[in-house]
Amino acid sequence: MQTAKVGYGMTHVEKAEQLLHQQYHCSQALFGAFAEDLGLDLKTAFKISTCFGAGMRQGSICGCITASLMVLGMALGFYDSQDRELEVYGNQKTDAFIQAFRQKMNGDMNCRDILGKDVSKPAEMAVIRKEGLILQKCPRALHAAIGILEQMLADYLKDIRESSIDLADIPDNEMQSVIKRMGRVRTFRRQVSELIFSTSREIAFIQFDIRKFKIINDLYGEKFGDEILDFVIRTLRETCLEHQFFVNLRSDVFMVVMEFDKDNELTSWIHSLDSKISNYKNIKLQMSYGVYVVEDKEMELRQMEDRAAMARKAVKKNILTNITFYKEQYKESLYNRKFIEENMQTAITERQFMMYLQPKYSIAKNEIIGAEALVRWKNPERGMIYPDQFIPIIEENGFIKKVDYYIWEEACRFLKKCAQAGFQSCPISVNVSRVHLLDNECIEVLDGLIEKYAIPKGMLELEITESADTQQISMKVLQLKEEGFTLLMDDFGSGYSSLNILLETPFDVIKLDKKFMENMMVSGKGRLILEQVAGMVNKLDLGLLAEGVETKEQIELLKSIGCDQVQGYFYAKPMPQEEFFELLKKQNNG
Ligand code: C2E
Ligand code: CA
Ligand code: CA
Repeated sequence: MQTAKVGYGMTHVEKAEQLLHQQYHCSQALFGAFAEDLGLDLKTAFKISTCFGAGMRQGSICGCITASLMVLGMALGFYDSQDRELEVYGNQKTDAFIQAFRQKMNGDMNCRDILGKDVSKPAEMAVIRKEGLILQKCPRALHAAIGILEQMLADYLKDIRESSIDLADIPDNEMQSVIKRMGRVRTFRRQVSELIFSTSREIAFIQFDIRKFKIINDLYGEKFGDEILDFVIRTLRETCLEHQFFVNLRSDVFMVVMEFDKDNELTSWIHSLDSKISNYKNIKLQMSYGVYVVEDKEMELRQMEDRAAMARKAVKKNILTNITFYKEQYKESLYNRKFIEENMQTAITERQFMMYLQPKYSIAKNEIIGAEALVRWKNPERGMIYPDQFIPIIEENGFIKKVDYYIWEEACRFLKKCAQAGFQSCPISVNVSRVHLLDNECIEVLDGLIEKYAIPKGMLELEITESADTQQISMKVLQLKEEGFTLLMDDFGSGYSSLNILLETPFDVIKLDKKFMENMMVSGKGRLILEQVAGMVNKLDLGLLAEGVETKEQIELLKSIGCDQVQGYFYAKPMPQEEFFELLKKQNNG
């Protein structure tokens, strides 16, 4: 692991070794190496650390340990003896340090063991001097202690930044600003706790950030980005009055805690802050504000902060406002997301994903003409999880690719099983998330599967959701078409559909969305549109299939406009593949 650089481009280890060479003892050397980070000058640091040598002079506990604990204490702030939580936390951290040190040093914790001689005995001390044992033996302890300290500080930072960073990612010389920021966050939290317990008014946590701040950084340079942050901090300093506290948590994320009486007082405060910071040097800055109003004062501070953070993240999905108040459901949806992200890989390896099949029927023939493969997640803890609960999340993180490959393979396996059983199967359509259309992998995977299971290409159909396509995506759809796949346009009428799409489309079959049909059925005009769509699809020689068909009335209407293919609860719900297999077999025999 790379060690962080301190002043003059030296690492903590280099600085400590330099001090050791200048005849400072190990606790002075170690504490001195971190002095600048802690905002101390070297002289003061030596004055403080001289006393840590006591154990060492007795030949017992190594000075690196005492000095390290002092650094930890100052950096992480275990100072308030009245604060039980802090005390427990502090004890945990010091225990963790000592344990790690013991491990790294193979159990050598005492000066006597590290040096092989006892400093407290004049005769042995003479040998230590004569043989230069300090410079030979002590660096081992110094390196061990500094390595652990740096890692612990980086972990703490990771904690408060909520993001995963490695120490190697902290730029040189940043350790100092990191420790300073820790100090500011601590002071902020102390002030907030005091406020919460002293006021009888309402308390709000307001967390905000700058939308697309990364893009601003890229466009105008990081220096300009820093200027914007300074500007926000200055403005907050001028705006926050007594009993209003703010802190810059990390990068462009800020937290304000204030007291208020009425909701409109709070929102007008935010609006007024927003008007001051939403423009810097003619660049429009858009903020997202998440607000949590404290209900239970006994709740941990961190939890209150988290709730404001959840509201801030939720507000990004709203295009109508940039202020959102925390709702209980954010917590739920965050837990749900976490659960999915933590369990999705196991779900693949343990085969928890299952393929369900929903039959497609011909109204005229009253028989099965195909089926759609739909994923289900049978989770040992939660039971059945439906796609709407996890697909949007795994589409965001790209994991949908793996799930789709899994289902595509299940579909191919099923088709092969039918062929082996010797009866006529029907085409199975699989869903192709739009995530696949961004690269070439899906074509290779599909070709690979078709070859592996020896499936006629026409038997595996692809459902792709219609939308106002970006060019790259339509290109990919075209490519799939050229590869010879049958393409179904999913959810027609749910989004950007226009009749133009039909003219330009490489699709073979249009699937009418359930909602579209329902909406069209309520008026004469709607029926007319439906008729026109059906007529046009027909003229263009495309197939038409209605989804989500539930009633006899819908069947009649579809018949009257010349749509014969249907899928929906009226005929059958999605079912486990074994059940569908039996259904097909029966149809074949009958
Ligand atoms: P979709 O592709 O439009 O699939 C049709 C959905 O409508 C299915 O929900 C199906 O169970 C439901 N449905 C079918 N008939 C009826 C009906 O008569 N009435 C009602 N109310 N609903 C009906 P499901 O299985 O929950 O899937 C939801 C969506 O999740 C799918 O919508 C599709 O977009 C996505 N999805 C499902 N499986 C996969 C998959 O393996 N891969 C990908 N990428 N997406 C999938
Ligand atoms: Ca579909
Ligand atoms: Ca659909």
